[in-house]
Amino acid sequence: MGKISIDFRTGSIKSRNEKIVGIDLGTTNSLIAYIENNHAKIIPIGKNAKGMIPSVIYFNENNEYIIGEEAKDKMILHPESSLYSIKRLMGKTYEEVKDQAQFLMYPLEKNHSTELVKFKIQQHAFSAVELSSFILKEIKKQAESYLNCEIQKAVITVPAYFSDSQRQATRDAGMLAGLEVLRIINEPTAASMAYGIGLNPQDSKQVMVYDFGGGTFDVSVLRIENGIFEVLSTQGDNFLGGDDIDTGIANYWINQNRIPLPDGKSNELRVLAEKAKVHLLTNNSCTFNFGELELTLDKGQLNAIAEPLVNRTISCCIEALKNSHLNTNDIDEIILVGGSSRLALVKEKLQATFHRPINDFLNPDEVVAIGAAIQADILSGNRTDLLLLDITPLSLGIETIGGLMDTIIPRNSKIPLQLARNYTTSRDGQKHLKISVYQGERELVLDNIKLAEFILKDLPPMAAGLPKIEVKFSIDADGILSVTAKELRSGKQQTLEVKSPHKLNEQEIARRLKDSATFAEADANKRAIIELQNEGNYILDNARKFIKQNTAHLSEHEIKEIHSAMDEIVLSLQSGDKRIMEQAIDHFNRSTATIAHRIMDIQLKKSLGGSSIDNI
Ligand code: ADP
Ligand code: MG
Repeated sequence: MGKISIDFRTGSIKSRNEKIVGIDLGTTNSLIAYIENNHAKIIPIGKNAKGMIPSVIYFNENNEYIIGEEAKDKMILHPESSLYSIKRLMGKTYEEVKDQAQFLMYPLEKNHSTELVKFKIQQHAFSAVELSSFILKEIKKQAESYLNCEIQKAVITVPAYFSDSQRQATRDAGMLAGLEVLRIINEPTAASMAYGIGLNPQDSKQVMVYDFGGGTFDVSVLRIENGIFEVLSTQGDNFLGGDDIDTGIANYWINQNRIPLPDGKSNELRVLAEKAKVHLLTNNSCTFNFGELELTLDKGQLNAIAEPLVNRTISCCIEALKNSHLNTNDIDEIILVGGSSRLALVKEKLQATFHRPINDFLNPDEVVAIGAAIQADILSGNRTDLLLLDITPLSLGIETIGGLMDTIIPRNSKIPLQLARNYTTSRDGQKHLKISVYQGERELVLDNIKLAEFILKDLPPMAAGLPKIEVKFSIDADGILSVTAKELRSGKQQTLEVKSPHKLNEQEIARRLKDSATFAEADANKRAIIELQNEGNYILDNARKFIKQNTAHLSEHEIKEIHSAMDEIVLSLQSGDKRIMEQAIDHFNRSTATIAHRIMDIQLKKSLGGSSIDNI
C-alpha cells in the first residue's frame, strides 16, 4: 500500500499509491492504460469517456489551445490553426520534412537545417516535442482526475522504425509534460505483449504485427524468444492510412454527385466520410445529408475504394517478410493493430496472402496502450516472475593489442547484465593501461564505433603478462553501460559510465550488421594476421629475455640458433604474410624446443593464450 494524503483544498483523500501508466502517443489518436488487479484497463479519457483522444491541438487567436475531439471538430473550419499528425515530424529537421509540408494544412517554419522543425501558429512556433508534451499533459491530467491520484511515471510507445533522435524527442516530450519516462518501447512489441506473447520466458514465437492507423501503415516481423523481442524487419508507408480512405470516399461522393466544393467544405466532407466508413463496420450501407444532398455508401463501394490502399499494405507485408528472412510458415500469427485494421478487407487479404492465423481478439485501437501498461507494470516490480528484457543491438567490447576488437557483451544480449573478461599487459613494467570501449561487429576496432576511453593508471611494475586486469561491462535496466577495469593483484581500479550504448538508429544498426557479414572473410583474415604479429612479437620479447637470463647455461651455438630463428620471425613479420609468419613461428618453436624445453615451454604456451591490451 502506498501513502495516503489529504488534499487540503478539496478535503478529499488522495491515495499516493504510485501508478505507472502506459501511453500510446499516436499519430491520430492517443490512449493511456494501467494495470489494476492484474488486469489492463484503458483509462476512459476523451469526449464521452471514449478512452482515446485525437492527437490534435487547436489554437485560438489568443494562443490558447484545446486538445482532442473538440480540436478535431475545429479542424473543419480552421485547418490552419489545428495541428494534427504531429508525430510524423517528431525529432526531424525542416530539411528532412520539407517534402511532406505540402500534405499538411498548416505551415511549417522554414528554419536552419540542423534545427528541429517547428509548427507555425499565428506569431508563435512550436516544436513537435512541445506539441506532443501538450498532448501528454492533457492525457495525464484527464487520467489523474479519473484515477484520483498523481501520475508521475510512464512507458511511452513509438514505431519500431523510430530513430534514436525521434525516441529522444518522445522522451523529452514526456519530461516536459511532467512525466518520468521509464522506457520507450516499440509499438509492435507492446501489441505482442498485450496478446500475452513473450510474457512467459519459455515462449518462442515469430509474429507479424500489422498496424494500419490513421495516417501511417507499419508492419513489423518480430522474433520473441527468452522474453526478448527482436525486430527482424520493419516496413511501412508514412503516407498511407485511414485518412486516405476518407479522402477516397469524399472524392467518390464528389464525382458521383458533381458537388461543387467551396473552400473548407472538403474537410467537412472528409469527416462525414470517416463516419460512413466506421458505420459500415456493422452495417451494410449508410446515408448522410450534406446540405441538399443525400450521400450514400455501401460495403461494396467502400471495398472498391479501400482495395488499392489495402493492396499497398499487403505489398509492404510481403517485403517485410522477405527482409526478415523468414518463410510464411515461420510466422506463428499475425496481430492486427490500428483502427483501420478493422476493415474486413484487411483480414481477407492477409488471410489469402499468408494463410496464417490472424489474431484480432483485442480491440485494435487499444492493444498498443495495453501492452505499454503491461510493460509499466513489469517495471514497477508488480510482476516478480518476469524480468523485463531489452537487448543490446550491437556487440560491446574493448580494443586489444594490434587494434583488434575483443567482444565482452555480444550483440542481442539481454539487459540488464554484467560480463567480465581478464586481460594482461604486453610489456614489462607497464604502468598505464588504456581501455578503449567500442561498439560493433567488425574484427578491427577502426571499423567499429568508439564509445569511450579511459586509462587505468599507476599499475605496480610487473613483468608483462603478470598483471591480471579484469574488465567488467555492466548494463543496467535503462541501457546505461559502465565499464570497470581492475588490476586484481593490486586492487587498482577505475570505472567509467558510458552514456548510451544505443546511439544508433535501426537503419544504421542494420547497415553495420550487413557490413559485418559482407566483410566477414576479409576481417577474419586481418584478425588472423594481427594475431600472428602479436604472437611473433611476444615470442621475440620472451626469447630476448630468455637469452639474457640464461646466457650462462647456453652454448654459443645454441644462442646463434635462437637468434637465427628470431631473425626469421622478424623478417616474416615484415612480410605481413600469414603463411610466412605461421612458418617462421612454427620453425622457431621446433628449433628451440629442445634448448628451452623446460623454461620456454611455459612462456610460449602463455603467448598463445591470453590477449593483451596495448601499452601506451
Ligand atoms: P494512429 O495509430 O495513427 O493514431 P489509430 O490506430 O487510432 O491511428 O487509427 C485511426 C484510424 O482508424 C482512423 O483513420 C479511423 O478512421 C480508422 N478507423 C477506426 N474505426 C474504423 C473502422 N471501423 N473501419 C475502418 N477504419 C476505422
Ligand atoms: Mg497507432
